[in-house]
Amino acid sequence: MTSVDDALNLMLSLAGTLGEEKVPLLEAYDRILAGDIASEIDIPSFNNSAMDGYAVMSGDTLNASGDRPVELRVLSEIQAGIYREGPELVSGTAICIMTGAVIPGGADGVIPVEDTKEGEGTVKIFKPVKKDDNIRFIGEDISAGSDVLHKGDIVKSSETGLLASLNHGEISVYKRPRIGILSTGDEIVDVGEAMARGQVRNSNAYTLQSLVRGMNVVPEYLGIAEDTIDGLRQKLKSGFDTKDIVITTGGVSLGKYDFIKDVIQELGVDIKIETISMKPGKPLVFGIKGDKVFFGLPGNPVSTMVAFMQFVRPVILKMMGAAKLRKPVVKAILMEKIKKKPGRRHFIRGRFIIKDGRFHVTTTGPQGSGILSSMSGANCIIILPEDIEKALPGDEVMVQLIQHGEV
Ligand code: AMP
Ligand code: MG
Repeated sequence: MTSVDDALNLMLSLAGTLGEEKVPLLEAYDRILAGDIASEIDIPSFNNSAMDGYAVMSGDTLNASGDRPVELRVLSEIQAGIYREGPELVSGTAICIMTGAVIPGGADGVIPVEDTKEGEGTVKIFKPVKKDDNIRFIGEDISAGSDVLHKGDIVKSSETGLLASLNHGEISVYKRPRIGILSTGDEIVDVGEAMARGQVRNSNAYTLQSLVRGMNVVPEYLGIAEDTIDGLRQKLKSGFDTKDIVITTGGVSLGKYDFIKDVIQELGVDIKIETISMKPGKPLVFGIKGDKVFFGLPGNPVSTMVAFMQFVRPVILKMMGAAKLRKPVVKAILMEKIKKKPGRRHFIRGRFIIKDGRFHVTTTGPQGSGILSSMSGANCIIILPEDIEKALPGDEVMVQLIQHGEV
């Protein structure tokens, strides 16, 4: 049995990164940058006003107050988007300026319009202006020549905006893996089909497809394979022919009809892992066929989800070139007793709340590996280490924040 940490490290070391492609800016959202992005320009590209108001020489306003305003002669007006040479400010003058407009020569501060009163060709200033007040300086956001984003960064909204600021209409990102998802089991019946007594509705194919879609990758659903060597061989072969990652559920335990391992070996998959020291999710087959990756996930609905979150998701991210592969794990105060057998690492469906600024956590109820409803209420996974046999109310436990991005 492989330990959880060894298993993940081995998987990550064996999964290669895919090639690159160029996509339009908006399609780069939730994709991974395939190269560093440096700026050739300063942003802002000129000193500009952070407020609507008047550009002034700060020295002129030292003694301004509500009772004794300083009166300055208004030379002109500058709108955003217009660059005009001169006139320069001289002592005793001001220029009316809009937010984002170029700071005129001679000015070293801006007084907001709220602290002024307009007169006939003049303005009264009711507060002193300090040097640099309300000026946004050239390059204060991004300076020319600096790296703004890095290879392996995920593109979210801020990155999309930065790329737009730098005038990148097309972005080089890593390709997404082609993923095939296959359910197995003679008892499994698909959504929409009539179900007889003793049969089980296929939920895993749908949880897995939605987990993959949640990574901005659309997988192909390969259907349900029956528990026979021939049935599995046919479906798996077509999966390996066209996909980078093949994921199955069920058929990896020790049942008489669990044939997955035999068939994938026959198809040339080198099995690297067969069981992992965890609960749920112990039977988990990981193998490699050339640069293709195989995951044989357990059939129980929660085991499948937990195995996906702990192993498949980081491997997909690695293949897509992501620099950050792990969900954040934080300390939380446990609010109930949890018993476990020493030996395996337990992944327990939890719900955290924040009380007095600290994470507190409870379980979501029954933890059987078939109880999907307690997964639905979970916003975190409580991780209990291999060697312990219980955790008590008030204990500090580690909690994985499954709804947060990788860090
Ligand atoms: P297995 O490992 O194939 O013996 O499956 C373990 C348990 O998971 C059995 O109770 C199966 O009926 C159930 N199971 C397997 N595949 C699915 C699926 N696609 N959807 C829901 N339950 C499943
Ligand atoms: Mg089965």
